Amino acid sequence: MSDKIFETYLNSAGNECIMEKAKGLHKHLAEAPPVYFDGLGMVLQEAVKPITRVCKRDGSEQDMIMLGSNSFLGINTHPRIIEAVRKSYEKYGYGAGSPPLYSGQTQLHVELEERLAAFLGTEKALIFPSGYSGNLGVISGLCRENDIIICDSANHASIFDGAILSGAKLKCYLHQNTRHLEKILKSLPDTQSGRLIISDGVFSMEGSFAAVDEICELGKRYGAKVMIDDAHGFFAVGKNGSGTASTFSCMDKVDIHYGTFSKALGAIGGFCAGSAELIEYLKYYARSYFFSSALPASIVAGVLETIKLLEEEPEIIENLHKNMIFFKNSLDEIGFNTMGSKSAIVPILIGDTKILGLFQNDLFDAGIFSNIGTTPAVSGKTCRLRLNVMANHTRSQLQEVIDCLGKLGNKYGIL
Ligand code: PMP
Repeated sequence: MSDKIFETYLNSAGNECIMEKAKGLHKHLAEAPPVYFDGLGMVLQEAVKPITRVCKRDGSEQDMIMLGSNSFLGINTHPRIIEAVRKSYEKYGYGAGSPPLYSGQTQLHVELEERLAAFLGTEKALIFPSGYSGNLGVISGLCRENDIIICDSANHASIFDGAILSGAKLKCYLHQNTRHLEKILKSLPDTQSGRLIISDGVFSMEGSFAAVDEICELGKRYGAKVMIDDAHGFFAVGKNGSGTASTFSCMDKVDIHYGTFSKALGAIGGFCAGSAELIEYLKYYARSYFFSSALPASIVAGVLETIKLLEEEPEIIENLHKNMIFFKNSLDEIGFNTMGSKSAIVPILIGDTKILGLFQNDLFDAGIFSNIGTTPAVSGKTCRLRLNVMANHTRSQLQEVIDCLGKLGNKYGIL
C-alpha cells in the first residue's frame, strides 16, 4: 500500500473497524463460494500423487496432474510410513477411543510431542485432533473477555473462530501491514489485560510469508505475546522444513508456535509448541484437547516416521523447494500475478469469479486438478486459482501445467 493511501486509511473516520473482519464475520461465514454451488464433484480413486486418478461429476475417470493437494511432500504413501502405520494399527487398534487425559494417550503420542518440541526448539508441545480444533482450543483457552487479540486480516478462519469463541476483543490489521499493526498496538489502553498478536506464517490463500521478525519485535515493544500458525510452513519452507519464523531467524522470539500435520505431511492433526508452563496450562484449558478424543496412534505413528524420514532424506524437502521456485518463476515470467508466493502454494490472481470458474473447468478438461480461492476465504475481487506444488512433481508435469495456464491466461485475458 502506498504511503498516501495508508495515511488516508489511518486518518479516515472509524479506521479501526474498516478492516475488522470480525464485524462482518457473520455475513462472511454465511457466504458460499459461488462457483461451488453444484459442488466440484471430484472423487479421488486413489491416494494423492503427482498424477492421481479422479472420478469426475459426469462419472468419467481421468488421470489428472494434481495441483490441488496440500500434501506438498507427496510422501503419504511412502512404504516406510505405511509400514509404521500398519504396525501401530496392530498394536494400538485404529482409533484412540478417549481424550488424551483419559486413556487416549500412547507412548507414540508422548514421543511425537517430544520430537516436535525438539524440532521447534521449545520446552514442550501438544497434539490436537485437527488443525482447526487446535486453534479453537489454544486461542479460546488463552484469551478472556478483557484481553485483546490482534489478527492479520488474512489469517485462517480457525484463528478468527478461536478468537470469537474466546470472547476477547478482536482487532485486525491490514494484511501484512506491520505499520498498521503498530498503530493498533500504540492505541491500546494500558488497562487492557492481555495482548496476543496472531498471524499465519505462510498465508494459506497466497503462499506469501508474514514478516515474523517485525511482528515479534512489535510484540516485544508493546507487551504482546506472539502466536504464529505455520500450518503451511512447517515441513515445507525454510531449511529442513523448519518453517517461516526460521527463515527470519526468529524461532525463539515466537511465544506460541502452531502447526498442522495436514499439509506438507498429508496426514491430520494440529500441534502447539512453547514453554512448559504454556503447554501444561493448555492441557486443561484448551477445550478441544481436554474434551476431544486423541489423534489415533496410527496417525501419530505415520507422522513420527515421516519426521524421521525427512531428517534422513533432506532431499525430499529440497526437491519441493526446487519445484516451488521453478513453478513460481515460470508463471511470473509469463506475466501472471502470483501474489508474492514463497511457498508450495502458488496462486494466480484472476479477480473475476465467473472467469475463475471457467478457467478452473478448462484446467479440469485439460487433466489438471487445481483449487480456487474465493469467498468466503477471500473476497471475490481477489479471487484466484490456488495451485499447490508437490516435491515429486516432475519438471515435465509442471511444464505441461505452465504451458496450459499460459494458453488459458491468454484466452481469458488474464495475461
Ligand atoms: N491453520 C491454517 C493456517 C490453515 O491453513 C489450516 C487449514 N487450511 C488450518 C489451520 C486448519 O488445519 P486442518 O485442516 O488440519 O484442520
